[in-house]
Amino acid sequence: MKKYDVIIIGAGASGAFASYEFTKLNSNLKVLIIEKGNSIEKRICPIKAGKVESCIGCIPCNIMNGFGGAGTLSDGKYNITTNFGGDIHNYIGKEKAIELMEYVDEVLCSFDDGESKLYTTKSSNLKTVALRHDLHLLEAKVRHFGTDRNIEILKKMYEYVKNNIEIKFNTCCSEVEKNSKGEYIVTTDKGEEFACNHLILASGRSGSKWISKICKQFNIGLLSNQVDIGVRVELPAEVFKHITDEVYESKIVYLTKEYNDLVRTFCMNPYGQVVAENTNGIITVNGHSYANPEFQSENTNFALLVSNRFTEPFKDSNDYGESIAKLSNMLGGGVLLQRFGDLIKGRRSDKKRMEKCFTIPTLKATPGDLSLVIPKRQLDSIIEMIYALDKIAPGTANGDTLLYGVEVKFYNSRVEVDENFETAEKGLYVVGDGGGATHSLSQASACGVYVARYLNSLLKS
Ligand SMILES: Cc1cc2nc3c(=O)[nH]c(=O)nc-3n(C[C@H](O)[C@H](O)[C@H](O)COP(=O)(O)OP(=O)(O)OC[C@H]3O[C@@H](n4cnc5c(N)ncnc54)[C@H](O)[C@@H]3O)c2cc1C
Repeated sequence: MKKYDVIIIGAGASGAFASYEFTKLNSNLKVLIIEKGNSIEKRICPIKAGKVESCIGCIPCNIMNGFGGAGTLSDGKYNITTNFGGDIHNYIGKEKAIELMEYVDEVLCSFDDGESKLYTTKSSNLKTVALRHDLHLLEAKVRHFGTDRNIEILKKMYEYVKNNIEIKFNTCCSEVEKNSKGEYIVTTDKGEEFACNHLILASGRSGSKWISKICKQFNIGLLSNQVDIGVRVELPAEVFKHITDEVYESKIVYLTKEYNDLVRTFCMNPYGQVVAENTNGIITVNGHSYANPEFQSENTNFALLVSNRFTEPFKDSNDYGESIAKLSNMLGGGVLLQRFGDLIKGRRSDKKRMEKCFTIPTLKATPGDLSLVIPKRQLDSIIEMIYALDKIAPGTANGDTLLYGVEVKFYNSRVEVDENFETAEKGLYVVGDGGGATHSLSQASACGVYVARYLNSLLKS
């Protein structure tokens, strides 16, 4: 059986950045990455290629799996902040977290051929304007590469690591065992076995159930108590232009008067596209945008999410989110679409009403009624937030504002790890979204760098 110093499961943002750091440090460690998705040049979603109109459930899904992970075909928006996108600062401290995210930004820019702007909300007047309407703008620096450039950057990163790190694509890690020598034995779906002393689970959101399974097997603590449910809003880009021109992405949080629930904007894509996302067969909605004006649309899209935290005895918040997403899949065969005006009038959107709609949807979705899918509490909170946003971006509450459902932000079960992302099982690390500590590209990548540096110094000494 082939033996490695380190095996990484998943070549997403965290796994790819760990491999970058091992290469950069010239560590001489024998590192293997096992990745269930495709190599980067094969990552083409048939919807984006214009071959099919809606998700056909490719296995592996090229949006979620492959080199660069869920981030590769994303909008390439890197938020340098500890205000959202995860809480690695609770493990490694705020200063270190920001320093690592800045480092990730530097690395990405070094592979980028173009010029990209680093937006900041710090000095923005928008914060004051928002506060006047009880809306709270969170502070962040944002680098936006756009989907097109992000792929090119990651291709170069792959070229940089490929001679130092062995990567097995289209290979899924199925089992992990520990032998009597304390080595981890990793088995793949192809029946191959590999051994290592240090195993990094970096399998992201799409591999989070698998991570939970491994943690249960090794009696490692897990907690799952949060899921965010909402819709993706799409409206003419002019409505948010004054905001997106200044800060590109605005994370705005609002506490509803009716239920005292937190609602927030998330993943804002000026001149972007709404896309369907397939997580283990459940279709939800997401969005991205291109840097190249040629591919841009006339719309801006963003998510409005309501946070739900559950208390004992309920333990599986993700199942709750999945059940709601399944309802929209059942009624709409995938993503449902409704005009805000129809939702307010308590009627479904249908083909005829959509034909009269001035806002042209960028995703082909089934016109329908979101009130049959999203629970009243969350839907009321979303409606209240839309009216609140209308005060700083008039036009948000127009009848032709489009709402796609559902968008679900799954919080992967939080795995108990120490300050080096090592579990109670010595030599077993969990990084990135799969361990619940991160939900963003910058933080997941920073997490990968951190563990690679830690292991490099540990194994050298
Ligand atoms: C459409 C979309 C757009 C997004 N846009 C943004 C954005 O603009 N900005 C932002 O900050 N965040 C964005 N995100 C979130 C961001 O992509 C993630 O937070 C980030 O990729 C997490 O990195 P990760 O390494 O933890 O996991 P991932 O990037 O999900 O990588 C995990 C990898 O592990 C592999 N894997 C899983 N299980 C196994 C297994 N058993 N064996 C082998 N391999 C396995 C998967 O194939 C995958 O490639 C977006 C997500 C999506 C889906």
